[in-house]
Amino acid sequence: MNAVVYKGPHEVAVEEVDEPEIEHPNDVLIDITTTCICGSDLHMYEGRTAAEPGIVFGHENMGVVSEVGEAVSDLEVGDRVVAPFNVACGFCENCEDGYTGFCTNVNPGFAGGAYGYVAMGPYKGGQAEKLRIPYADFNALKLPEGDAHEDAFALLADIFPTGWHGTELANLEPGDSVAVYGAGPVGLMAAYSAKIKGAAEIYVVDRVPSRLDLAEEHCDATPINFEEGDPVEQIKDLHGGGVDKGVDAVGYQAVDPEKQADSAYDPARENPAVVINNLIRTVKPTGELGIPGLYVPEDPGAPDDMAAQGRLGIDFGLLFEKGQALGTGQCNVKSYNRELRDLIIEGRADPSWVVSHRVGLDEAPEMYEAFDNREEGVTKVLLEP
Ligand SMILES: [Zn+2]
Ligand SMILES: [Zn+2]
Repeated sequence: MNAVVYKGPHEVAVEEVDEPEIEHPNDVLIDITTTCICGSDLHMYEGRTAAEPGIVFGHENMGVVSEVGEAVSDLEVGDRVVAPFNVACGFCENCEDGYTGFCTNVNPGFAGGAYGYVAMGPYKGGQAEKLRIPYADFNALKLPEGDAHEDAFALLADIFPTGWHGTELANLEPGDSVAVYGAGPVGLMAAYSAKIKGAAEIYVVDRVPSRLDLAEEHCDATPINFEEGDPVEQIKDLHGGGVDKGVDAVGYQAVDPEKQADSAYDPARENPAVVINNLIRTVKPTGELGIPGLYVPEDPGAPDDMAAQGRLGIDFGLLFEKGQALGTGQCNVKSYNRELRDLIIEGRADPSWVVSHRVGLDEAPEMYEAFDNREEGVTKVLLEP
């Protein structure tokens, strides 16, 4: 079968790879109907992780069950399912507590597993024609038959729950004001989640006008372009002081508006602490910060030695002085995906507006390049094998 294979920095190829097989009685195989390119794939694509060539990418997967292991009890051939990007067992202590992003059984020596991702276990990615889903009764979420809401349901694998998680980490409540840094797919989903939850005011910070337009149009957000001035001052001027809650949907490869370089996303412009420090300044004393944006313990392409070890120059004294709380970590998709699915089925949410492209698997190399360049109008790319 064909799959998207990582070849080295800034290079992926569609190549023939072995088909997956049932390896354990609780596995299923699915024929992929939709798989997404994610911003976190770009960290590997850009050579900013320890990923080695040969990885099949793809952790945002949905499809139709084609084969069922003999111990699977709740799934049948033909079921339409979406898989959380986290692989989780369902019965370890963290899974029992709902922290399925930190399962201790699926990736020995580490808390958390995922499909097609460096250091996240032996699970092949789904940017391919077929995928094996382990612990399938637990991991595969059933969807209505047919092809309705295909784009929206595909977003249940990661970005809709992850955006929602950002607002949960910040304990966003109805009537709160919130600033979301980053209008990539996760930031847009965080702003959309804030709207669904009844936030009173939503500010979204980015530098790409088409992304800010989406935030304004679909999330009733106030767009803040950080290339046009200090985003903290812009938000405080508009709001009249610090906001209640903040979400970091950027992570460690953050552009520092104070730094100049030849191109917008040149690593020379990066400052991995800039978003967290801006959030500490943007959010009011005793406010809360949700940080689903990705940070890494080692960054081979870091702008300095400290950042290479995942150590950031955070203004912790100011955070303490303001009595702020922060929540971090990848999304426990299982905690939210069933309810978010039902919001989609009932027509109360439709996150599919974030999807800009649906293309064949063979177009993956050019779409990776366009997404990596944050080209205008390229927000979320879905692949259809
Ligand atoms: Zn993802
Ligand atoms: Zn577990």
